[in-house]
Amino acid sequence: MSSPIEPAPGRHGQGAGQRGPRISRRVAAIAESATLAIDARAKALKAMGEDVIAFGAGEPDFPTPAHVVEAAAAATHQPRFHHYTPTAGLPELREAVAAKTARDSGYRVEPAQVLVTNGGKQAIYEAFATLLDPGDEVLVPAPYWVTYPEAIALAGGVPVFVPTDASTGFRTGVERLEAARTPRTKVLLFVSPSNPTGAVYPREEIEAIGAWAAEHGLWVLTDEIYEHLVYGGNRLHSLPALVPEQAERTVVVNGVAKTYAMTGWRVGWMLGPADVVKAAANLQSHATSNVCNVAQAAALAAVSGPLDEAMRMREAFDRRRRRIHELLAAIPGVTCMEPQGAFYAFPSVSGVLGRRIHGRRPETAMELADLILEEARVAIVPGEAFGAPGYARLSYALGDDDLVEGITRIAKLLREAA
Ligand code: PMP
Repeated sequence: MSSPIEPAPGRHGQGAGQRGPRISRRVAAIAESATLAIDARAKALKAMGEDVIAFGAGEPDFPTPAHVVEAAAAATHQPRFHHYTPTAGLPELREAVAAKTARDSGYRVEPAQVLVTNGGKQAIYEAFATLLDPGDEVLVPAPYWVTYPEAIALAGGVPVFVPTDASTGFRTGVERLEAARTPRTKVLLFVSPSNPTGAVYPREEIEAIGAWAAEHGLWVLTDEIYEHLVYGGNRLHSLPALVPEQAERTVVVNGVAKTYAMTGWRVGWMLGPADVVKAAANLQSHATSNVCNVAQAAALAAVSGPLDEAMRMREAFDRRRRRIHELLAAIPGVTCMEPQGAFYAFPSVSGVLGRRIHGRRPETAMELADLILEEARVAIVPGEAFGAPGYARLSYALGDDDLVEGITRIAKLLREAA
């Protein structure tokens, strides 16, 4: 099957004249997204007719609100939505995002400080690519969302993990951050509410962290994608709104995915100083250009409309949050902090590791997740994916009945642990 034509040196295959590996070191080092991998396995089992309950994916189970869908449908019939928009986004969407931000978190930015991106994920990649030079360190509180370290490394940066645990509600603080700071530290990654732990930082802690970052001239990338999904007595707080002196070195990441059940529409944004936003837009102009024009029309309807539907979804998540916490905490060997925000429970499963279950003896959360998928047909994400061995993440953005059935199956399987 080999081609009679010799490949050009260093361009194709492992042929003669090949220089270096087939896949660049930079890209070869990227791990597959464990959350998407688990979800893909669960979906493949489902497609084979298996009755699988999936706690893997981090997306709302609700449809996108009807008025948003209608705005998109109307846009498809208007030729002006068939073409490129400016790279940074529809001017009216940039304005609406600035207005929505002031409305929801009290943080005031100009439309020129808004870059519309292909989901919050692209905003994170572009922010790190724009801020980091090789060797720059980024403080990443652990457990962390799987994408952060990859985005940092791809930009040439070095993720420096700052461990947290259940004893502090999985929140970090100035003391731990200061202990991890070096002369190479450039950025602090901050996320509240947190994926995967469901932690939410109270106002005073955000103020203290923001003041510490300002004191040391650090940048902050704050991911506010779960801003509206806070429960109980928790409130939404935005770091640059609380600590205005830090705003000039802060990038905010946000999007419509979680608040409006719009994961598939792929619209997010970054807010930052105008020079950073302009530089990131230059990068985006050569990578993906603008976000799908029709999707931007949908996002415009979402962010400029009311939050009623978002609040209804939050009520459902809140109900499921209490239910999943109660059910998980009742399983012997499992301990679980009550999630405060987002839609994830993050139990410790270390109490059942090393025990005999169904003829196997899982030693790690990864092996346990495998066993649970195989024997109980329930998909959960092992904590290893988030830098947290001994834990697991369960998204509770699924139907109430499935939630109860899924945890009941896990409980039944783990009851065998001996
Ligand atoms: N940040 C966090 C913490 C997330 O959990 C996610 C989605 N899993 C995103 C950003 C990105 O969301 P999207 O790209 O769908 O807007």
